[in-house]
Amino acid sequence: MSTAQNDGRQARVEFNKLQKRLRRNVGNAIIDFNMIEEGDKIMVCLSGGKDSYAMLDILMNLQRTAPVNFELIAVNMDQKQPGFPEEVLPNYLEQLGVPYHIIEKDTYSVVKEVIPEGKTTCSLCSRLRRGTLYGFAEEIGATKIALGHHKDDIVETLFLNMFYGGRLKAMPPKLLADDKRNIIIRPLAYCRESDIATYAEYREFPIIPCNLCGSQENLQRQAIKHMLQDWDQKQPGRTDTIFAAIQRVSPSQLADRDLFDFVSLELDRTGEPRAERDDSDLFGTRIEESDKKDPGVQIMEIMPSS
Ligand code: SF4
Repeated sequence: MSTAQNDGRQARVEFNKLQKRLRRNVGNAIIDFNMIEEGDKIMVCLSGGKDSYAMLDILMNLQRTAPVNFELIAVNMDQKQPGFPEEVLPNYLEQLGVPYHIIEKDTYSVVKEVIPEGKTTCSLCSRLRRGTLYGFAEEIGATKIALGHHKDDIVETLFLNMFYGGRLKAMPPKLLADDKRNIIIRPLAYCRESDIATYAEYREFPIIPCNLCGSQENLQRQAIKHMLQDWDQKQPGRTDTIFAAIQRVSPSQLADRDLFDFVSLELDRTGEPRAERDDSDLFGTRIEESDKKDPGVQIMEIMPSS
């Protein structure tokens, strides 16, 4: 076998492994959060970026083998950014044979009018897009709206909210909209961005950049992204560990009085005292035995400083 043939085979093996991993992660997220049920009509939001292409691709694959029947409808919103290549998504979706809609709405002009020059426009732009998509989901009778956010997006959002908003909140894999009229699912919640990027390259998705509007990426999000990438490089798997943490919340070890009733704490010395006094958790830093068995959790020696 020639070197080129060998390389080709190796690349196929790598791709198959990656594809399996992504499908497994999506399948697990769907099961864990009961994202898809019998008879669901899922509106898959496509932005033209790598994440949403990968999401549609994987969902279409799962649709063929899933034990439940569900429909997929791809939806893209043409926000009228200058230079938006209108034909790219319809051509791609025709080829796939998936039902789709393109919503045309000039949110670009609204954003340009409202936001002063030089300021980041992404937050208003996304809000306008979200409002339109939610309304459209109702119009077409979609029971769920699938968005392409992945694990790295979720962890970035956690830090954005902590650092700039003073709140401990991220982006849930499944969400009921405030008005209860839509359910949002994020099937890529367990997938790493690096895997999705490699997958998108292999699959040669016709990517449409999201900065045609000329907006800079949100600087705060960029800073958080760099911080996490740096951490992940120094300590591989740290983002996975942080994600595991948001799935294992201990309200009694935090300080939110709405989540835990600190006021009514009462002594109860009727039971047996704990056999062995364990001071190592005075600072709430002990890692439980059950956590150590979870490969997603890195075991670090965290010692209280005094
Ligand atoms: S980069 Fe432009 S199109 Fe994309 S979300 Fe931001 S403002 Fe909207």
